[in-house]
Amino acid sequence: MAVFTDTFQVKTKGFCDAVDITDKVQTSIDKSGINDGIALVFIAGSTAGITTIEYESGAISDLKRTIEELVPQNREYRHNLRWGDGNGFSHIRSAIIQTDLSVPFADRKLLLGTWQQIVLLDFDNRPRNRKVVVQVIGE
Ligand code: ZN
Repeated sequence: MAVFTDTFQVKTKGFCDAVDITDKVQTSIDKSGINDGIALVFIAGSTAGITTIEYESGAISDLKRTIEELVPQNREYRHNLRWGDGNGFSHIRSAIIQTDLSVPFADRKLLLGTWQQIVLLDFDNRPRNRKVVVQVIGE
């Protein structure tokens, strides 16, 4: 078994910006030289998230609306009272969506569905430069 650790940066606009990172994860697998295994994708940040969805404007818009309904931005959060950075909603969204995702791959190709992409969601209330860690585990 082998482990290959890769990182890359993603610039976002914040406010639920959704970025398709599928190609970048595939590039990490290509670089690893590992043929079969699991790609563990992790966002190093407590105001971002990662999920899979069909990356088209309708589905992304529906996802953003649903997240706003579940965790509204304009509500009182104790985090804001403590820190004054106004991003209490961002931390809760991140905790619920979570910051890691595992995707199997075989013959060096991600085993995603045809319309399924790996999508980084930035919940913060300002633009960010995100560090994404990919650990490629397999043989
Ligand atoms: Zn905060």
